[in-house]
Amino acid sequence: MNADQLYSKLRKIRFEKSENREDLRQFCEEKMPLINEILDLKEQKGAVILAHTYVPPEIIYSVADHTGDSYGLSKNARDAKSDLIVFAGVRFMGETAKILSPEKQVIVPATDGGCSLADSITGEDVRRLKKEFPDYTFACYINTTVDVKAACDVVVTSSNVYDIVARMDTDKIYFVPDRLMGLNLIADLEKRGIKKDIKLWDGTCYVHEEFDPALIESSRRMFPGLKILSHPECDPLITNESDFVGSTTQMYDYVVENGNDPTYLVFSECGLASRLEAEKGPFDMVGSCMFCKYMKSNSLENILRVLRNPEPADYIQVDDLIREDALKALNRMFAEAEKK
Ligand code: SF4
Repeated sequence: MNADQLYSKLRKIRFEKSENREDLRQFCEEKMPLINEILDLKEQKGAVILAHTYVPPEIIYSVADHTGDSYGLSKNARDAKSDLIVFAGVRFMGETAKILSPEKQVIVPATDGGCSLADSITGEDVRRLKKEFPDYTFACYINTTVDVKAACDVVVTSSNVYDIVARMDTDKIYFVPDRLMGLNLIADLEKRGIKKDIKLWDGTCYVHEEFDPALIESSRRMFPGLKILSHPECDPLITNESDFVGSTTQMYDYVVENGNDPTYLVFSECGLASRLEAEKGPFDMVGSCMFCKYMKSNSLENILRVLRNPEPADYIQVDDLIREDALKALNRMFAEAEKK
């Protein structure tokens, strides 16, 4: 890896929030000693580095072994041959990796690995709801803590939530924690002619709930042929008017399939637009994306620190009994997702 290679990727990105980016070439040159030390330590320690699409792009294009959304990365973590996983993402993702691979050491290098969805509900909340609604099946979004997963019957992701809930042989579902994704789920089931009683928790992603639906009408007027893409964490006022709704990876694939001619309006965290520009651009993209402060708290500096001098608190710890219950809910997802 050299500064030119990194520069050739980063220079295509218009949406960026890493610090110190006025002089991009200088930024790349300054980061090279850091990057090379990370690559050396990664090799010495036999580590694998996973990077969510929303983390700063200099991580994705210099040290990451795999990049993707939470579902894809959870499979990369499960299948990794390495004993040490450095998961550039947020804490619930590191916990998911640890649930799937308890024998591996997992570190999340974010300085703030929170998530407004994962932090909106506790395992205790779910256990209380289960007593209140004993005949409901509890489905949780993967953006939850290990304790919440352990208390639920099945985990879902943004790429499989609609299909899994549609196929489940129960008509009473309590879906946690994303209220907006739950409303989108209800609308999708209605479109498929499936009647289910769905109850919802009141969590939201603070990034995706902020998008303004008013942008849709004016953008459609100004850009004929506009393709609008949105994530199921967005408000139904946005998803109902979108040409495509899907996970980060599904939206990425949609743009690749539809090519560089249309103008795109993408309602998602800026990391998706950045990856598309770096890997498949140039594109005409209108509107503005939003940054997730939790994802952007990952940095090359902190990846180096956890590889060089990890502290006990850096390692994700999961209690064995809780892990077993959470694994059942995750394995049910993998089994359901692989059914056709
Ligand atoms: S983008 Fe939203 S759902 Fe994803 S980590 Fe950030 S707060 Fe959580």
